[in-house]
Amino acid sequence: MENKILNTVIIGSGPAGYTAAIYCSRAMLNPVLITGADFGGQLATTPEIENWPGRSDSPDGASLMDSLFNHAKKLGTQFVYDTVVSCSLKGEIKTLTLSSGEQLQCKSVIICTGAKAKYLECKNEDLYKGHGVSACATCDGFFFRNKTVAVVGGGSAAFTEALYLSSLCKKVYLIHRRDSFRAEKALVDKLKALTDKNVQFILNAKVDEYTGDGGTLKGIILDVDTNKQKLSLDGVFVAVGHKASTEIFKNDLELENGIIKTGYSYATSTSCSGVFAAGDCADDTYRQAITSAGTGCMAALDAVSYLEKH
Ligand SMILES: Cc1cc2nc3c(=O)[nH]c(=O)nc-3n(C[C@H](O)[C@H](O)[C@H](O)COP(=O)(O)OP(=O)(O)OC[C@H]3O[C@@H](n4cnc5c(N)ncnc54)[C@H](O)[C@@H]3O)c2cc1C
Repeated sequence: MENKILNTVIIGSGPAGYTAAIYCSRAMLNPVLITGADFGGQLATTPEIENWPGRSDSPDGASLMDSLFNHAKKLGTQFVYDTVVSCSLKGEIKTLTLSSGEQLQCKSVIICTGAKAKYLECKNEDLYKGHGVSACATCDGFFFRNKTVAVVGGGSAAFTEALYLSSLCKKVYLIHRRDSFRAEKALVDKLKALTDKNVQFILNAKVDEYTGDGGTLKGIILDVDTNKQKLSLDGVFVAVGHKASTEIFKNDLELENGIIKTGYSYATSTSCSGVFAAGDCADDTYRQAITSAGTGCMAALDAVSYLEKH
């Protein structure tokens, strides 16, 4: 890439990054987008997206993300297929160092590095991810209507997922490795109230292994008080937390539990002037493709406004 000071560099090729790129391109900022190793972001490996507005044909994640990529490309976004390994964001001119050793200098940065759901890392998990094992009930719960599922976890996210699934599924197990919960008491009480309906708690239990026919999940093997137990299931929702991909920004930006804090001078501005954040890396609550795209748009508009003033 030519050695010049760029207007805007966008980091990440998920829905937030591509949307920011579309808006920055239309604002004639000639943005450069660094894709990162996970081209297309978290959605790229998801077989079916049913909640992207206007796409009632339920596209697979890869083709949906390809359409966003093509849109940004057509409008003039330049792509760099690399990863940012370090950065210096505090001055007027920001420097991003890529894994190739190349350095990009720019006046503004839009961080869209997303997050990764934590999984259990037990036997056969990779085999059944997307084939019965999910980390997002809002995204995938619909596929398990009137079926039997389990939610694994003891925090508020696990209880929220279980409550959501209890209205869709025939039966919901809440599996937790302890007999006490970190979740908000109100959520625990709400879920406990459903135990005479379609919810059952399995406590002091650890998932040992996922079982199935190699293509579809059929159940799990649990370690309950050191005894092995088989449980037949159609789906397992792992709700043991998310980790935002923000490690490289921790020396420059204010983070809260790893999430980039925003809302300083603009809705998406970070603690560093000229640096904006959008999508899951700055959101611990909604974590949806459309909310990421929405904040990607906001970050681009904020960057345009910032650059007009500087
Ligand atoms: C299995 C699964 C299914 C889902 N299904 C749905 C669904 O049906 N509907 C829905 O709305 N949401 C769904 N979600 C949630 C949705 O995928 C996320 O909310 C959304 O992708 C977040 O978008 P993002 O742009 O913030 O980040 P991500 O999609 O996480 O993209 C992050 C990008 O940043 C890049 N990156 C990270 N670090 C660096 C770095 N150092 N340098 C350069 N690039 C970097 C990565 O390579 C990646 O391209 C699902 C999530 C999962 C895990």
